Amino acid sequence: MTKNQTPRDAFDLLMAGNQRFVAGTPEYPNQDAARRTEIAPSQQPFAVLFGCSDSRLAAEIIFDRGLGDLFVVRTAGHVAGTEVLGSIEFGVSVLKAPLVVVLGHDSCGAVAAACSALEDGQTPGGFVRDVVERVTPSVLAARAAGRETAEEILAEHIEHTVDLLLERSRVLAEAVAAGRLGMVGLSYRLADGSAQVVATRGLDAAVPTAS
Ligand SMILES: [Zn+2]
Repeated sequence: MTKNQTPRDAFDLLMAGNQRFVAGTPEYPNQDAARRTEIAPSQQPFAVLFGCSDSRLAAEIIFDRGLGDLFVVRTAGHVAGTEVLGSIEFGVSVLKAPLVVVLGHDSCGAVAAACSALEDGQTPGGFVRDVVERVTPSVLAARAAGRETAEEILAEHIEHTVDLLLERSRVLAEAVAAGRLGMVGLSYRLADGSAQVVATRGLDAAVPTAS
């Protein structure tokens, strides 16, 4: 990646890769031995990607990128605890990535589990409960705003996650305020592979939403 890349440059690069993936014309950039050798001494990823762990959401595949491009953090339902916050901050403050992406998707099991826990009061056991409980505030906020469809609840959860990162991390908030960092929330459609913009922070006002 080039140095001094802007948040907008990083966003455009990411979305161009998703469009290639959707169209079935991937270029598989940065996946060869030369790239492997080039970046072995140090990494300079252009984005931190924080997404759901879902096996259908493989980051470098769906954005048609390769080695050294994305600093990836994934948890079920993209719920953020302190290790997640620390990993994202590392990507921004140490590796200087100009973009943080929150990636959610339709038919997310964690979101569905949070919805059903609210409906029937049944919460899963073990640490799965912790995941579900961290999604629940998003579902409640969506309902309070009259946003009841699965798509609306998902969008709320993605945007809520973006804002949660900014509220909890001073490092991220200061980077956005200084214009060094952009944040984007993307909603991924499993069936067609497209990533739709549902929230932006610190990017230019007019971000086109892919259709
Ligand atoms: Zn999921």
